[in-house]
Amino acid sequence: MPAIESVPAPQRVAVIGAGMVGLATAWFLQERGVQVTVLDRTGVAAGASWGNAGWLTPGITTPLPEPAVLRYGLRAVLSPSSPVYVPPRADARLLRFLAGFTRHSTAAKWRTAMRAYIPMNRRAFEAFDALRAGGVSAMTHEAKSFIAAYRTEAERSVLLDELGHIHSAGQEIEFDVLTGAEARGVEPSLSDNIGAAIRLHGQRFINPGEYVHSLADAVLARGASLVTGADVVDVRDEGTGVRVVTSAGADERYDAVVLATGTWLGELGRRFGVRTVVQAGRGYSFSVAMEHVPSGPVYFPAQRVACTPLGDRLRVAGMMEFRSAEAPLDRRRILAIAEAARPLLRGADLDARVDEWVGSRPCTPDGLPLIGATRSSRVFAAGGHGMWGITLGPLTGTLLAEQITTGRQPAELQPFNPLR
Ligand SMILES: Cc1cc2nc3c(=O)[nH]c(=O)nc-3n(C[C@H](O)[C@H](O)[C@H](O)COP(=O)(O)OP(=O)(O)OC[C@H]3O[C@@H](n4cnc5c(N)ncnc54)[C@H](O)[C@@H]3O)c2cc1C
Repeated sequence: MPAIESVPAPQRVAVIGAGMVGLATAWFLQERGVQVTVLDRTGVAAGASWGNAGWLTPGITTPLPEPAVLRYGLRAVLSPSSPVYVPPRADARLLRFLAGFTRHSTAAKWRTAMRAYIPMNRRAFEAFDALRAGGVSAMTHEAKSFIAAYRTEAERSVLLDELGHIHSAGQEIEFDVLTGAEARGVEPSLSDNIGAAIRLHGQRFINPGEYVHSLADAVLARGASLVTGADVVDVRDEGTGVRVVTSAGADERYDAVVLATGTWLGELGRRFGVRTVVQAGRGYSFSVAMEHVPSGPVYFPAQRVACTPLGDRLRVAGMMEFRSAEAPLDRRRILAIAEAARPLLRGADLDARVDEWVGSRPCTPDGLPLIGATRSSRVFAAGGHGMWGITLGPLTGTLLAEQITTGRQPAELQPFNPLR
């Protein structure tokens, strides 16, 4: 654990961004006696942390750029109904992201990035358990069944290969290979079109919006200030402290600042040397009533549709749109997800959708998050987790709080240097 620089342990820290990553960092900073202020320009879970699939799946938490995704992405440019969308006219920033993403979509780069994920995946649940033991009221749910379902055995071979790679990389993941009938035996909400499946073991899930709100409540109960409607437009390291300025003119000084602004990380991070593009990988979701709500997540990998039970409803999520986080919700994507799921689910009322939502996965070209000190030893980055900010948010908070308060970088964070 190399020492970074000897600045006194900060006592007052501002966390910008009230998503899973920011709030978890705030909570673990409080564990270490830090007085925290959380600022968000909208509110708690206003970004990607609300309508996502809520999977806590360290067993399949892997880097997004990989050879198969690349093939998929290129095909997607030609097919508007594909679950991966790249606009035909990309701007310079998106082109930079796509070029980097393409460069990292090789088997060798995937293996290197996977090596960085494994130590994180191993400890992901431990951080959730610490939150629960420390008074966060929302629960994580054990996925009694977690089924990846396919029409055909041929489609299934893609994930079986990937599980082989994950296993060879040293990641533990137990699974069973099921026929369609066996899968329906476990999960009656699968339709007769399902002809092959994989059942994953040892994973969990949450209702992410509920969970992040309960994390915010816990952070508040432990004495933090939570300032919503605070659009941070400037962060300045003044040598002895950091000034945080909002668009409304509020101006406060802190000992240190954490940038946990998800897809918008680059906006405040760039001047502190964070050069990696954080690109919005937009996903959509909605929830539907079911005759039989599944007892755990259901995944249709060929359609890239992820379903999660949320109480008496099923959340259905999908799409990967590489375009501006600010673009409005595109209803065609919602319909494309509903149509992709329709033949595969039994007893799902896909025409009575509620909570239609779009949110932006903060994606990096190398598929790794940005966690740690920036060019300023008082300004830290925590973001860029792409598809996995819910699974890895709490552990990110644990490790970053350790780094901020001790000045030492935990070994797990070395590959995620925000200045790379
Ligand atoms: C469809 C979909 C499904 C997904 N499923 C899963 C899953 O099953 N499991 C999983 O692990 N991950 C999943 N993800 C990914 C996960 O949602 C994200 O990685 C995670 O939510 C990122 O959290 P965050 O806290 O970094 O960012 P966010 O939740 O986006 O939070 C960033 C916050 O910063 C605020 N902000 C930004 N700029 C400023 C500023 N200048 N001033 C003040 N506030 C600012 C925003 O308002 C926002 O609230 C999914 C994502 C999508 C879209």
